[in-house]
Amino acid sequence: MTQVSDAEFVIIGGGAIGCGVAYSLARGGVTDILLAERAADVAQVTTAQGAGLCGQPRPTLERTLLAMHSVATFRELQRDPKVQPEWHETGSLRIALSEKRVAELRQLKSVADQAKLEAELIDNAAARKLWPAMEFADVKAVLWCPSDGYMRPYAVASSYAYQCRKLGVRIATSTAVEEILSRNGRVSGVKTSQGAASCRYVINAAGANAYHIAKLVGLELPIVPVRHEYFVSVPVEGMVPELPCFRVPELTLYGRPCEGGLLLGGWEAQSLQTDPREYGLNAEPPPVEPDWTVLNSFEEEFSRLLPQTRGVKKTRVGRGWPTFTPDGRFIIGESRRVPGFVMAGGCNAHGISGSAGIGRLVYESIFDPKPSVYVKSLSPDRFTEIPWNWKDARREAAHVYETYYGV
Ligand SMILES: Cc1cc2nc3c(=O)[nH]c(=O)nc-3n(C[C@H](O)[C@H](O)[C@H](O)COP(=O)(O)OP(=O)(O)OC[C@H]3O[C@@H](n4cnc5c(N)ncnc54)[C@H](O)[C@@H]3O)c2cc1C
Repeated sequence: MTQVSDAEFVIIGGGAIGCGVAYSLARGGVTDILLAERAADVAQVTTAQGAGLCGQPRPTLERTLLAMHSVATFRELQRDPKVQPEWHETGSLRIALSEKRVAELRQLKSVADQAKLEAELIDNAAARKLWPAMEFADVKAVLWCPSDGYMRPYAVASSYAYQCRKLGVRIATSTAVEEILSRNGRVSGVKTSQGAASCRYVINAAGANAYHIAKLVGLELPIVPVRHEYFVSVPVEGMVPELPCFRVPELTLYGRPCEGGLLLGGWEAQSLQTDPREYGLNAEPPPVEPDWTVLNSFEEEFSRLLPQTRGVKKTRVGRGWPTFTPDGRFIIGESRRVPGFVMAGGCNAHGISGSAGIGRLVYESIFDPKPSVYVKSLSPDRFTEIPWNWKDARREAAHVYETYYGV
């Protein structure tokens, strides 16, 4: 077992984000890192539940480039002969059912062009060749991105961890951070369930506990866990792993092939969020029970496009509490109020696909003397320097979730 010992950086949390940040720092030559994860292995909480899709066409250039960096990293990790993220570069179809969405696809295509990401609007006959069982009769347009894909979320975090260990990063599992120490107003160390360690920087990648970790240094940050779920069906004929991922924004649904069946998830019009102040640092958000009304409604909606899955049996449900922020932006970078305290949270359900890109932004926020306007806009200071209240923050974070595929 890795002992807790002094390090330049302590990363709290070994989900996709903590492991992705550790990997980005280590690839940048910063290897004096201790990653503390309280579970017995990495990626046991939200990350383990992820659907694992990674889509690069995004409404803004920064977000597109971030996702492209993640894909380049997944390819790089996939080349290791021993531990791989199980990256399937199958491409993706984004399907528009109305003219309003066709305009959105054109907009995404134009951002993709700026980012030099290959993406094209294809006709229904071409889309049918890519997903033969899908019913395209009512489809108005399809955006095809050949370098999108999916991975196994646990495998991604494990492959970051594997590469990190090779580069000298220490990963202490079964190690809960209980306190953050400071000296002269600056972070100076952590106390954990396995002993204390001094450090120059603490990076908060504690997922649904990131609120509580920030609170340890006196920061109140609106990191709102919102319930999210998908189901995986029994094997369905023709559902081969090579089929592209798909997104149908009008139905607020996404999916991919999984274990021989269909993985189908969606964004609910009326979300369920929880208040992180109602559970403590040492607890997790309440358990999520499968909501069959919601899950069956995903199936019902989607069967318009894939009739063969109507009434299909479900074998498992992925579910958890990804965190959302009121403005829909990640919270990344060092706090002006607490030097040495760095945020890597509020991932708005992009924490797996965005993990490598977010890691790179964290690196830039710490080491670049002139970080980009985009990185600066993600700073936790935006929530510590102006007043806000929890009621509005929860409402706004819920709105970000509910309009995930908003135009
Ligand atoms: C059903 C579902 C589907 C999803 N699908 C996708 C998808 O397709 N693509 C995508 O990109 N994202 C998806 N997401 C979102 C994604 O799962 C999250 O954004 C991502 O996992 C967040 O990673 P994280 O590392 O921040 O959090 P977590 O994975 O929750 O990791 C945080 C870690 O911190 C640890 N921790 C907490 N407190 C302490 C402490 N005091 N000391 C030490 N360790 C501590 C926890 O044990 C945990 O391991 C999905 C989420 C769900 C629930």
